[in-house]
Amino acid sequence: MAKYKRVLLKLSGESLMGEQQHGIDEKRLSEYATQIKEVVEMGVQVGIVIGGGNIFRGLSGASKGYDRVKGDQMGMLATVINSLGLSSALVAIGQKARVLTAIRMEPIGEFYSKWKAIEAMENGEVAIISCGTGNPFFTTDTGSALRGIEIEADVMLKGTRVDGVYTADPEKDPTATKYEKISYDEVYNKGLKVMDLTATTMCKENDFPIVVFDMDTVGNLAKVIKGENIGTYVHA
Ligand code: UDP
Repeated sequence: MAKYKRVLLKLSGESLMGEQQHGIDEKRLSEYATQIKEVVEMGVQVGIVIGGGNIFRGLSGASKGYDRVKGDQMGMLATVINSLGLSSALVAIGQKARVLTAIRMEPIGEFYSKWKAIEAMENGEVAIISCGTGNPFFTTDTGSALRGIEIEADVMLKGTRVDGVYTADPEKDPTATKYEKISYDEVYNKGLKVMDLTATTMCKENDFPIVVFDMDTVGNLAKVIKGENIGTYVHA
């Protein structure tokens, strides 16, 4: 039985790289597609926001001399590339998917609206919502918070390579321990890096919970959907 009826899944661009240093790893992409199809078949409506950090980030571009707004636009276009890749991988295994873009660019994708996303999900399609918020100076974490709240998802599932929120960076500090549950206030007060502050504030103000979990282990998405305690639940 699924714990959630409608979810917003956030995938970072970096996670699409798999073992590579850049770009898209087809094996990782197809593992994600398989996991997503599995939960749609459980009757869950799935909206997805993907990052673009595997291709371009406006902030790091700016430090190399790119205009920040153009760099952010490059980053948003990177999310479209990733979204097309994931939709292609889903369709290849028989899972319908629709790419929506927050910036008009038909015929690459349909121009996003809340209702188009909901129509797609109610039709059994995965709604892949690209371009983040559609504006520079934001991140796809904020895009995920925004779209998740807009499409009335029950929760944001933030798939990462670590299996939750820790007291310190577990890749650097071996004594770090994982939180099973934590509030947004504690995340602020302890300075934990879960999402950027804009995204965190949006989630807190709109009482929108997130689950941070390891999406790179095949089968974990279904476990989280079933309510198994494998990640960290962050709540208002
Ligand atoms: N971006 C943006 N507005 C948004 C979302 C993303 O300008 O609403 C740009 C920004 O340059 C960002 C890049 O797209 O660095 C890729 O997104 P993000 O860094 O969130 O990707 P991730 O870290 O999840 O791979």
